[in-house]
Order: sequence, then C-alpha cells, then structure tokens
Amino acid sequence: MPLVKELAKEGEISMYIIMLGAPGTGKGTIGNEICKHYNLMHIATGDIFRAEIKNQTELGKKANEYISKGQLVPDDVTIAMCESYLDKSDNVLLDGFPRTIHQAEALKEYLANKGKSVTAVIDLNVPDEDIVVRTSSRIICSNKECGAVFNTVFMKPKVEGICDVCGSKLIKRPDDNPDTIRKRLETYHKQTEPLIEFYEKEGLLEKIDINIYSETTKEDTTRKSVEKIDARLSD
Ligand SMILES: [Zn+2]
Repeated sequence: MPLVKELAKEGEISMYIIMLGAPGTGKGTIGNEICKHYNLMHIATGDIFRAEIKNQTELGKKANEYISKGQLVPDDVTIAMCESYLDKSDNVLLDGFPRTIHQAEALKEYLANKGKSVTAVIDLNVPDEDIVVRTSSRIICSNKECGAVFNTVFMKPKVEGICDVCGSKLIKRPDDNPDTIRKRLETYHKQTEPLIEFYEKEGLLEKIDINIYSETTKEDTTRKSVEKIDARLSD
C-alpha cells in the first residue's frame, strides 16, 4: 500500500488540517513541518491578511478598514478570504482559521459542498507556565534586516547579548514580559475554548502534549502530529 504521504503528494487524497495552539507553542514551526511532510498549502491567516492588504485587493482593503482602527475583522470578511484560498487546493493546513464557532460552521459547510471534510484538528498543548518561561527569555536581533531570534535559556547566542548572524546587539521585545504573556494566554484560552469543544464534539480533535525542555521538541511534535493524521487518513 502506498504511504499516505505519497498519496497526499500526488493529490490522490484531500487533506484539511487545522492547527490550534497558543502563542509560544511553536504552532507556525510545526505547521511548516507538517506542510513539508505532506506537501500541503499553508494557509496562515495572519500572512494572508498582510499580503492582501499590501497588494490592495478588494478583500485586503475591506480587512484594513477594521485592522487600521484596531478592530477585529468581521467573520464574513475572514471567511470570504479563507475560502478564496481554499478554492486553490484540496490539501491545506489552516493556521489562524477558524477562530470562532461561526467560522468553524462556515468551513464545515464550505467543505461539505465540495464533498469534503476536515481531516484532523491538531491542538498543540504546552503548559502555560512553560510558555511564559520560554517567551520571556526570548531575545531578538536589534538589526531589523536580520531579525534572528535567540533565547537566554533554550538557544543561547555564542557571545552573550550579541547576534551570531550579524554581530548586532540582542534586545528583548517589550511585549515579552511574563505579565503580558500571561494576559495573552488568558485571552487565547478564552477565545479558543469553544472551538476546542466544537471539534471535540465533531470527533476531530488531536491533542499533542509538548515538552519544550526536550532537545528534540520540534521533531517529536512533528512525528506525533503526523502519526495522528496518518491514523485518521487510513481509517
Ligand atoms: Zn542579527
């Protein structure tokens, strides 16, 4: 039997993976690894919004009306934008969408109309206090063109306070302090809990526990996620 991953690469099967995880869980990184493994199109709504706004598309202009005022983009704008990307491929990984139950229902209906459904929802689970430790020890290169990221606990630069890549000074983001991170996590959990319940009821939720203190966190998390997805595809 051919491997699931080969079938996905050849477009023989369709895959819709949703990534959930608080800021600081490494969702973007793990999402990228899963995309590479199955050759999926990565639909990250944050990136999409930025690109659409930069290119001044109709949807971009509409979204910017809200973003520029510091307001949330309404569900119908977000849904329309994501659907225009979903139209391009049957093998995608969604990051940042759906964010609300309304969006989740819209996605379900959109896929049902194509005779498809969500394959799995990967929920990256890191204890909040671990995220606080990791994020508050993050230091970034002060040279904006470099932008390298280090960590005083997990990924120390060769010379303290100096960027390995370009030699500039390393600084802390003002937002990366424990209080702000805890507030950010609280907001995330409040917003995401209903969504987690929704997908649990749908029987699609795959919780992946992550130990950020392990040296092979990225590999372990990717492998666990792929195993869960493979199991669902071969059902
Ligand atoms: Zn640098």
